[in-house]
Amino acid sequence: MDFTKIFVGGEWREGRGGLTDSIDPADGSLVARRGVASVDDVDDAVAAGLQASADPEWRNMLPHQRARILARIGDAIEADVEAISALQTADTGKTRAETRALALSAAGTFRYFAAALETMDETLTSPRGSYLTMSVHEPIGVVGAITPWNSPIASDAQKIAPALAAGNAVVLKPAEWTSLVSLHLARLVEQQGLPRGLLSVLPGPGSVIGDAIVRHRGVGKILFTGGTTTGRRIAAVAAEKLMPVSLELGGKSPTIVLEDADMDQAIAGILFGIFSSSGQSCIAGSRLFVDRSIYDAFVPRLVERAAALRIGPGTSTETQVAPLVSTIHRDQVAAHVERALAAGATLLCGGEAPSGPEFDQGAYYRPTILAGVPNDAVICQEEIFGPVLVVLPFDGEEDLVAQANDTVFGLAAGIWSRDFPRAYRLARRLEAGTVWVNTYKQFSISTPFGGWKESGLGVEKGRDGIRAHMRQKSIYLGLDSHPLPWA
Ligand code: NAP
Repeated sequence: MDFTKIFVGGEWREGRGGLTDSIDPADGSLVARRGVASVDDVDDAVAAGLQASADPEWRNMLPHQRARILARIGDAIEADVEAISALQTADTGKTRAETRALALSAAGTFRYFAAALETMDETLTSPRGSYLTMSVHEPIGVVGAITPWNSPIASDAQKIAPALAAGNAVVLKPAEWTSLVSLHLARLVEQQGLPRGLLSVLPGPGSVIGDAIVRHRGVGKILFTGGTTTGRRIAAVAAEKLMPVSLELGGKSPTIVLEDADMDQAIAGILFGIFSSSGQSCIAGSRLFVDRSIYDAFVPRLVERAAALRIGPGTSTETQVAPLVSTIHRDQVAAHVERALAAGATLLCGGEAPSGPEFDQGAYYRPTILAGVPNDAVICQEEIFGPVLVVLPFDGEEDLVAQANDTVFGLAAGIWSRDFPRAYRLARRLEAGTVWVNTYKQFSISTPFGGWKESGLGVEKGRDGIRAHMRQKSIYLGLDSHPLPWA
C-alpha cells in the first residue's frame, strides 16, 4: 500500500504537510514513507464531513441500512486480519498475537455497534397535556477522533464505529508514531460502501493537526484517547467552544494481592497486567500492593518470573515482551527508572535495556520491578507507560484503600483473592472506572469503559456508546384542533 497519500474527505491525496518516516521499533528500519496532513487538509476534511453528514443519502439512511455498512466493515477487517497484524507489528513493535487480537477486536467493535444500532429505540414520554411527546436522537455532524499509538486499530474502531452508527462524519487523527494502520483501515472502510466524505484520516503532529481539529468550528464533538496533559488542553479548548468531549486518559492502576489469593494465578495475572504490551497500556497494573503477611514469600517468586520473561521482536512467536514504540519513548521510561533509583528505590529486576546485536537497534527494555519507596514517591504517582512495576506492602484494608486511592488517576484496579465477598467490598471502595477480580486486562465491547478523576471524562463502549455521539431532541406533537386558549 502507498502510505504517501492521506485520506481527505473521501479522496486519497498527498498531504500538504509533506512526508515523514515510519520506523520499525524492533530494529530501527524504515517501514514506509508516510504523508502528513496540513491545517488546510483539516479544513477540507471537515467541509467534506459536514456536507456528507447532511446529505440525505446518509442522514435519511435507515438504521438497519447503516448497520449493514458497519457490519461489512467489521467483516472486511476480519478478512484482512493477517495483513493488519503484520503492518501494526511493524509500526508499533507489538507481538503478532497482540496485533491480531487488536484487529479482531476492531472487527468486533464494528459488528457490535451495527447490532446495537439495529436494536436502538426512541422513546415516547408521558404527556401532561393534549400532545404526544417523544425524545429522539440526532447526529452531531462532524466528530473529531484523536487516538494514541498504543493500540491504534482498536482505539480507532472504538471511536469511528459508534460515531458513524450515530449518523456522523468522522475526522480521525491517529498518533504520529503509528499512523499506518489507520490509513489501511480507511482503505477497507472506503471499499464497504460508506458514502464519500464521511471518514477522513489525517496523520500529522498533534499540536498542529489535532489542535486544528479540536478548534475547528465545524467539529461538534471530540473523542480523545491519550495522556492526561493533552486531554486537559483539549478540554480547555472545548470549554471555549462549549463543545462536548469524551476523554480516555492515563492511569496508575493498583493491583492488590490479599493474603488468601491463589499465588500462581495472581503472579500470572500481575505479569500480564503490567508487562504485556511492554507496559504501554493505559490500564497497566503498575502499582502492586501485597499484604505484608505474604510479601516476603510472594515478591521473590514474582521477580523470578518477571526476570524470565522472553524479550524479542514482535514477529517472533516466542516473544512475550516486545520493543517499546520508539527509542525516544524507551529512553523516557529508562529515565523514570534512573530517577527512582536516585531517589532511593531498590531495583529487584530489570532496570536496563537488554544487550546483544539482536537488541542494539531496537527500542527494548527489560521488565523492571522496583520496591522500597512509599506510595507518594514520584515513581508511584507518575504514569510511566512502560514495563515498570512498583511493589508496596500494606497493613489491613483501611491502609490498603487509602494507599490505592491516593493517586490523581482512577482508571482501573485489580484484586486477587479467594474471598469473593471481601473482594467485592473492596472493589466498591476503589476509585476506578474498571475493577477486575481474579483476572486483569480483559475487555468486552458491551461493557462501558471510562476513567474517574484525572483518568477521563465520559465512557466509551456499551449500547449507550452510540447515544453519546448524538444530540437529544424532544418533540411535542399537539393533538388538539383548537387554538391554544391564551391567545
Ligand atoms: P498523547 O501524547 O496525549 O497523544 C495522544 C494523541 O493526541 C496523539 O494522536 C497526539 O498526536 C495527539 N495530540 C498531542 N497533542 C495534541 C493537542 N495539543 N491537540 C490535539 N491532539 C494532540 O498520548 P500518547 O503518548 O500518544 O498515548 C499514551 C497516553 O494515552 C497514556 O497516557 C495512556 O494512558 C493514554 N491512553 C489512555 C487510554 C484510555 O482508554 N484511557 C487508552 C490508551 C492510551 P501526536 O502523535 O502527534 O503526539
